[in-house]
Amino acid sequence: MAAFWRRDQLGPAAQALATARRVVITTGFPVATEDGGLAPETDGPGAALALGKALGRLGCDVRYVSDTTSAPLLEALGARALDVLDLSVTDTELETKAKAYLSKHDPSHLVSIERPGRAKDGHYYTMKARRITESVSALDELFRIAREQGTPTIGIGDGGNEIGMGGLPIAKAVEHGERIASVIATDWVVVSGVSTWGTYGLIGALSRDAGRDLLPSAADVRARLDVVLEAGAVDGVTGRRAPMIDGLAVEETLEMLEAVRALSAP
Ligand code: CA
Repeated sequence: MAAFWRRDQLGPAAQALATARRVVITTGFPVATEDGGLAPETDGPGAALALGKALGRLGCDVRYVSDTTSAPLLEALGARALDVLDLSVTDTELETKAKAYLSKHDPSHLVSIERPGRAKDGHYYTMKARRITESVSALDELFRIAREQGTPTIGIGDGGNEIGMGGLPIAKAVEHGERIASVIATDWVVVSGVSTWGTYGLIGALSRDAGRDLLPSAADVRARLDVVLEAGAVDGVTGRRAPMIDGLAVEETLEMLEAVRALSAP
């Protein structure tokens, strides 16, 4: 990750969001389960809700958009204004459908947290280079179009295969990088060890600028992890239905949360 991390992104991304009026947030990444199936991972949805709540406290209207695979997690978390948008990357009407969604909701900003971005061959891949195109809605098209239209976009990721990672030197930095690297770029890209942590970094930067703590409580983070597990999420590394994020016990995420809170204190 250190090989493709880009500096000076968090501050400008937070400054852009501070003036946002209507933000669309997407998240949800299908990963391999222990028994070889696919399920949405724990990294992403809870953090997306935390960012949405922070932006809501700043007076911003927030919508969430995900697909049939991952939307149940956001629904279980109580995300209001949730759109389920199933788009196929091979649909010849893809661009038209993405434009229709954007023109209907007219977001001032888009944020992606741990959400698949297509690779150069037009398919979506897990970190282990498993092709998951049939299980992924092409929500990265919203970001491609938004960028064309001049709507600010922010991508948060940790593996190189997510929305926002386009243009970063992924190919040689990660295993299977040549195949899985996303070609979908965003105006600002937050690369972090775990996407949830990068999202806390962004909320921390918003908190610092606003002069108040907008981060979730540790109790909320734990409770939301339980909620997404109950709704069918699995850990992205082990594929287990366990209170973990990217193979790490939830305590490590809580430590990071408090470190961000300390750094962003007014
Ligand atoms: Ca991750």
